[in-house]
Amino acid sequence: MTSDEFKEWGYRFVDWAADYLSHPERYAVLSKVKPGDIRKQLPPTPPEEPESFELVLRDLDQIIVPGLTHWNHPAFLAYFPTTGAEPGIFGEMLTAAFNVNGMLWRTAPAATELEDHVLDWLRQMIGLPESFKGMICDTASMSTFHALAAARERIGETSGRSVRDEGICGPNSPTLRIYASEEAHSSVEKSAMALGIGRRGLAKIATDSGFRMDVRALEAAIEKDRRQGVRPFAVVATVGTTSTTSVDPVGPIADVCDKYQLWLHVDAAYAGSAAIIPELKYVLDGCERADSFVVNPHKWLLTPMDFSAFYCRRPEMLKRAFSLTPDYLKTAEGDSVTNTMDYSLQLGRRFRALKLWMIIRHYGVEGLRTTIREHIRLAKLFAVMLEKDARFEVIAPVLFSTVCFRLKAGDAETQAMLDRVNGSGEVFISHTTLNGRLTARLAVGNARTTEEHILSAWKVIAE
Ligand SMILES: *Cc1c(COP(=O)(O)O)cnc(C)c1O
Repeated sequence: MTSDEFKEWGYRFVDWAADYLSHPERYAVLSKVKPGDIRKQLPPTPPEEPESFELVLRDLDQIIVPGLTHWNHPAFLAYFPTTGAEPGIFGEMLTAAFNVNGMLWRTAPAATELEDHVLDWLRQMIGLPESFKGMICDTASMSTFHALAAARERIGETSGRSVRDEGICGPNSPTLRIYASEEAHSSVEKSAMALGIGRRGLAKIATDSGFRMDVRALEAAIEKDRRQGVRPFAVVATVGTTSTTSVDPVGPIADVCDKYQLWLHVDAAYAGSAAIIPELKYVLDGCERADSFVVNPHKWLLTPMDFSAFYCRRPEMLKRAFSLTPDYLKTAEGDSVTNTMDYSLQLGRRFRALKLWMIIRHYGVEGLRTTIREHIRLAKLFAVMLEKDARFEVIAPVLFSTVCFRLKAGDAETQAMLDRVNGSGEVFISHTTLNGRLTARLAVGNARTTEEHILSAWKVIAE
């Protein structure tokens, strides 16, 4: 492609994207396609000869867009909504233009240093202490995987057994245990599976009436395991659980971790971003005592997928778990620089810091605060409308921008409501199970969502 062609098509694609973003009303939020519909429309074999971008754009409009569930749509109110904000789109574009691989400091000095720097900005924004060193992962699942791998490595400090060298199997290997609440994200269980701990190596601790981890039950489970020769090594606390956004009592959990010398990882994938607001700083109380922490800017800080900020107060444990340098990757800079490959499972590394850097600079921290405050206001407004309607009940406290509710009439009625609301294409909300009952969930998190969108969502739901 020549430079002139690149410009011509580049402008066309920017125009296309701008048009897409400014006309969400043209699209059903939840795609109406059936499985296989997209592939049916695509040629089974790749084109032998070059094709014009004219045709690519046509297919984008006719085949791809109808097959999307529109996450960047202001009426997307399911799961945890996200925003691919314009400055982040530019960041993604230039990440591809540079196409650097940040595996070593030397292979992309600015990528390594901007990653350190932007994560240090974010650390200050949410109020974590300076001792937390940041690294970008693709998703919270990978951040938690890295946290628990570091925690597993730390077992060697007291047992004298090097996990990196000996693994966790073989004679005299104790059964290992991780603790998290029943409401913790499934990524904790997946990490246990992948790290050789096994699903039974995760103890799911009961929660109280507010869906928060019961700390007495946690301590009792640890005591019981110790009596039976099981080796506890890590606790995962959640700030903003996936179903109800409940917040575990991190301070008291940290006390238990201190007492039994356990690694404390905090999963704040969604709600951690709320701590940039001074009046919500308290939601991270106790997190300064964690060994590791994750928050996802791709959830509530307007950053396009994917971007998970992983912080660790014991980077030496991560390094022990993951560094392995073949000769051809040894460099003269030695320990004077960070080589990110020493701290992660992956070798190659995308230049992800660019997009968050551009977002923070474009909005300013105050602009980001305004957006999050507005989302919380809209969620509370929606909860008030539900409470005024005798057919509905709100199931959990609205701490952030997520509302859990259901029809008092029962699960079948709630399911029918969900099907009709989502089938309308006008709004997309999701569901969960709470206390054994089907629960609808509406969450606000897209920067383009306004009061008008929430009022029309309420209208569709009420009808
Ligand atoms: C969304 C979420 C996750 C998983 O996030 P990914 O980045 O998709 O892996 C984990 N934990 C919590 C609390 C979440 O809300």
